[in-house]
Amino acid sequence: MQKTVQYNVEKVRQDFPILQRIINGKPFIYLDNAATAQKPRQVIETLDRFYKEYNANIHRGIYKVSEEATAAHEEARAKVARFINARSPNEIVFVRGTTEAINLVAHAWGRKNVGLGDNIMLTEMEHHSNIVPWQLLAKEKGASLKYVGITDQGILERYEFQQHLQSGAKLFAVAHSSNVLGTINPVRELIREAHKTGCCVLVDAAQSVPHMPVDVQDLDCDFLAFSGHKMCGPTGIGVLYAKGNLFDEMVPFHGGGEMISEVHPYESSWKPPPYKFEAGTTNIEGAIGLGAAIDYLSNIGLRKIRLHEREITAYAIDKLSRTKGITIYGPSDPQARGGVVSFNLGDVHPHDMATLLDEDGIAVRSGQHCAQPLHERLGIPATTRASFYLYNTEDEVDRLANSLERVRGIFKL
Ligand code: PMP
Repeated sequence: MQKTVQYNVEKVRQDFPILQRIINGKPFIYLDNAATAQKPRQVIETLDRFYKEYNANIHRGIYKVSEEATAAHEEARAKVARFINARSPNEIVFVRGTTEAINLVAHAWGRKNVGLGDNIMLTEMEHHSNIVPWQLLAKEKGASLKYVGITDQGILERYEFQQHLQSGAKLFAVAHSSNVLGTINPVRELIREAHKTGCCVLVDAAQSVPHMPVDVQDLDCDFLAFSGHKMCGPTGIGVLYAKGNLFDEMVPFHGGGEMISEVHPYESSWKPPPYKFEAGTTNIEGAIGLGAAIDYLSNIGLRKIRLHEREITAYAIDKLSRTKGITIYGPSDPQARGGVVSFNLGDVHPHDMATLLDEDGIAVRSGQHCAQPLHERLGIPATTRASFYLYNTEDEVDRLANSLERVRGIFKL
């Protein structure tokens, strides 16, 4: 298979200092990108510059350095808005990550809009952070959770989706791309169908926004959540997008400074969104660093990154499937999946697998990847997951395949 060149991967790799490391005497191969991504020096230097040149609290200082910090923070919000094609920066709230974004919606939208006997629709491939907040809400309100099942290949069962819609789901919370199966769900179509019945849709975009162009106006989602750390940005910063005036109708999530208009001993009033949802001192440098990550990814181009990952994934599936005794999960068509390849090799425990691969300098994830219901559905206790990003190469996939042969040898498979 001839790989088409999307961009100069070797040049990109030079931007990531950590990729130069030697681990256990071997060049470091980082294949745990679904957990978190590595950081280019452009992002690291942005954080360094913030601390050295304009560290100050925002929105409150009437002095130059604070004004610079505030401007950089709000510019980052505008960058996020442009990146996902939101209509306005006011549709963007900075949070800690995808998990906090979903919890915000469960509290601030869910408590007002979900009641006794209502249904919340999820899928069998959700990450725990798109399950547990809804369990908490459902228990509090006397609502029910309905799961859309998946096929053995990890594709959503559309007739179940239709059935749950017909039975009047209030909210559909769905992963754009699965962190275990790699499945890219047809969220645009699902949102169209959900809206016909008045069902609101939250897209967990933790595994899509970092890897492919995502346009919230085209999707027409009501909410969209993602994390900075999975897209070359800092940890502890993430984004919740809400369409149009949805934020206006929602109650605050956290109370405190900065989110208020006035505070009196027994009552307070709120600033307009997005500030209403950003109580206290937020992760200022995180937002600015996320802005730098967006610049970095945009300069390469999300379409090119997606094509590169699709080719690496196709190559990996082809190469790894030649390993005797391997089972690879998820859709067989690389077009229908992101850069995540989860597998099992014979009866080798994924933790043993990850330890042995680490001896070869290869970092993968083993376990349930915060998706226990999915593993129960697949009837397996755990998987090993290799996940790719813009800096991974076919040569690294070859080294993974060689290491799997070494593991086969050790376990006499
Ligand atoms: N959803 C999905 C699909 C994920 O992959 C992850 C991270 N593994 C999350 C949600 C949670 O993201 P975070 O830990 O950054 O809040």
